[in-house]
Amino acid sequence: MAPDPHRLSTRGHALPKIELHVHLEGAITPALAACLARRHGHEPDEVLMLEDGAYPARYDGFDHFLRTFLATSAQVRTPEDLAEVAAGFATGQAEQGIVHTEVTFTAATHIEAGMEPHAMWAALRDGFAAAPDVEVGLIVDVVRDGGPAAAAHTVRLVEQADAPIVGLGLSGSEGSVPEGEFTLLRTAADRLGLGLTVHAGETGDAGNVRAAVDELGADRIGHGIATIDDEELTRRLATAQIPLEVCPSSNVALRLTPTLDTHPLPRLHGAGLTVVIGSDDPPFFATTFSDELAHAQRLLALDDDGLADLQVAAARAAFVPAARREQLVAAVEQWRRRSA
Ligand SMILES: [Zn+2]
Repeated sequence: MAPDPHRLSTRGHALPKIELHVHLEGAITPALAACLARRHGHEPDEVLMLEDGAYPARYDGFDHFLRTFLATSAQVRTPEDLAEVAAGFATGQAEQGIVHTEVTFTAATHIEAGMEPHAMWAALRDGFAAAPDVEVGLIVDVVRDGGPAAAAHTVRLVEQADAPIVGLGLSGSEGSVPEGEFTLLRTAADRLGLGLTVHAGETGDAGNVRAAVDELGADRIGHGIATIDDEELTRRLATAQIPLEVCPSSNVALRLTPTLDTHPLPRLHGAGLTVVIGSDDPPFFATTFSDELAHAQRLLALDDDGLADLQVAAARAAFVPAARREQLVAAVEQWRRRSA
């Protein structure tokens, strides 16, 4: 049988993988969302935005996606629900051979819905323990629409958390509040020894990526596909090796690019930018991290060595101590030697 260019090879499956851009609430499958809804006395069709039991294949813009995402996220009502979500996520990552993953978690949403912080962090720890072979680091994000007050609230939560937090994030609607309002996130990240990743240049333009770098000193950029529209910025990011977390299927599902074959990934990679691949919200975009790697491999015309290079880049971009990053690199290199 001819190999399927949309799937990883058997060898690729065995590659130790590192995924850095995926949202915990965005990893809730429609089946789990329906189960959580019923558990709390709701008919899935009344509270979830499902079409024939599945998420929409494509979205009528970012707001449509956001409503779908928030309807699912709202089904996580108790620490037990959250532990189940975390366990499902970690197990799914393990099945793909992911050894290190950094998952974005919007803690404030659950706190506002009444979850008690200690129980929330404990639920995450318990859930992640379901897959002990996967190292899970949390990126606790701030929805920028809530402004600096929301950021300060999230920082306080993080300061008091007993959880494997590796980074802070900034997401939400690009342009709703200027990046410069969130300098407290940079200060907090430095003080707490955390990374900072900023969703920018996804639905918005390159100016947002520039602001994320210049005003917040972002260590990584979530998406950043608009960077390619600005030559000077592209050169700067390439020189500074600031990684872009590129999620091809997400961009197609949100109609930011018409098809995978027209995705700017080859231009970003060709311009010398450091690219790491992510699945973003995999069941919402009918994808997995392995599928996203396969898409990247095909679009960039990479052999399995090139695929390993993408994972080395991800290992080097991880928000973990340098010694741990080198261990992750060594795991990929060992795969390269052993499976050659
Ligand atoms: Zn994202």
